[in-house]
Amino acid sequence: MTDSRTLYATLLGITEPWGVELVEMKQAAGEVHVTVALPTSTRWVCPECHAAAPIHDHQERTWRHLDTCQFKTFVHARVPRLDCPTHGIRQLRVAWADPGSRFTALFEALAIDWLKQASVSAVAKQMRLSWDEADGIMARAVQRGLARRKLEPPRYAGVDETSFQKRHEYVTVASDLERTRVLYVGDDRGQEALDAFWLSWTPEQRAQIEAVAMDMWDPYVRSTLAHLPDAASKIVFDKFHVAQHLGKAVDEVRRREHRVRMAEGDPILKGTKYDWLRSKKGRSWTEARAFTLLREIVTTVARAWSLREAAMELWELHSQGAADRNFAAWYHWARCSRLEPMRRVAQMIKRHWANIRTFFEHRITNAAAESINEKIQTVKRRARGFRSRERFRNAIYFHCGGLDLYPATLRAGS
Ligand SMILES: [Zn+2]
Repeated sequence: MTDSRTLYATLLGITEPWGVELVEMKQAAGEVHVTVALPTSTRWVCPECHAAAPIHDHQERTWRHLDTCQFKTFVHARVPRLDCPTHGIRQLRVAWADPGSRFTALFEALAIDWLKQASVSAVAKQMRLSWDEADGIMARAVQRGLARRKLEPPRYAGVDETSFQKRHEYVTVASDLERTRVLYVGDDRGQEALDAFWLSWTPEQRAQIEAVAMDMWDPYVRSTLAHLPDAASKIVFDKFHVAQHLGKAVDEVRRREHRVRMAEGDPILKGTKYDWLRSKKGRSWTEARAFTLLREIVTTVARAWSLREAAMELWELHSQGAADRNFAAWYHWARCSRLEPMRRVAQMIKRHWANIRTFFEHRITNAAAESINEKIQTVKRRARGFRSRERFRNAIYFHCGGLDLYPATLRAGS
């Protein structure tokens, strides 16, 4: 028994003065129960001020620890509560778990590592936890991470909306484009959602933010104008969002044309949706040839596609002046295209051009925010949607917040 006690003291990372008192195997239940204790000769001190303090009472505590082979392993201890003359009644801190946790720090750390890779349900199943327990480990990790993080205002911020579960429920995600991490998750996608992000900084900090990439979305624009000094020159409606709007317009042209052709018994556009949403680059030789032929036949959609391609080339120009001139020509072309969706999107771009051309001053895009968004989508798919905004928010911070998630006990020990 001495050997198993030493073994468990090592496995648990238990150090003096704590020692393993008893190791019990419950074969039928598939469990190991380890009882740890302090020697009676311990000199008790308050965990806050380290002044000598008498024992007030004991609390029976149990922590789930890493499995021993397949055996669920539990640590038990009677943890003294001390009566400090200054701080009152304080529970003694144990070296293997964070205060209040029902898991050892090593167990939590392993759960956190798994949660980074798999859904809450998968981790719960794998680690033989209830769904709520696994979810709780994740929520506490985020709380710890948020409490620890030292925020500096980003030089470049990105703002985007993302939906969860039901199509029309949104959160607003603000991120640091240089460090590629989420700074803030707000409810819905209204002005208030973003106001709260701006107000989380002092006016001096806000002044340090040089530019913000976002979509042409009025509530975000209004919020930014209201809170960011010189916002009019700092808002950048970014390339990815403009591309998205153009892509939607091209797709609308394709769908209309497809309907007309199908009515005449011509299925040539069937299954071509994604051909029209891709640029010239990255196609194989055969694909490129087929697409060129398709464009020669379906000239309406080909015109829409060319307009999108030409618009995207604006971002490759070297100066604001050149962009202005090219945009004017492009706009004229789009207006004369006789393609209603393209005319509409061109008008939208023109209306917002003043804050699209700011790109040439700041040279930022939401590419980093897009990569965060892709990660969020992966997490969402893996979780098969989120039941609440709160859980969705936690998941975003957990996976994309760049937070220090691990229990404090581990950090102190390592
Ligand atoms: Zn004290």
